Amino acid sequence: MIGSLGAAPKGGCSRAGCRESATWRIDWRNPKIHGSDRVKTWLACDEHVDFLREFLAARSFPVRVSAFDAAAPDAAAPAPLGDVPAAGGDGA
Ligand SMILES: [Zn+2]
Repeated sequence: MIGSLGAAPKGGCSRAGCRESATWRIDWRNPKIHGSDRVKTWLACDEHVDFLREFLAARSFPVRVSAFDAAAPDAAAPAPLGDVPAAGGDGA
């Protein structure tokens, strides 16, 4: 009996079907169902970080991408996410 493939890898990419190790973390929330202090976190590999970020951005969810350190996954505690600034606004 060699191997222990049953163990779920820690810090894996959140993209369905992807088994790569995550190098990015994507903090996001759905303003319609989450309060400003409720932040969800996905993990992503280099290949899927853009896909996942755009998936959320397309829904106008506040989203923030930052480097993920698998050795210290809790080093960067989620901070409240502000609302996405309205595009085409008056300046700012
Ligand atoms: Zn991936």
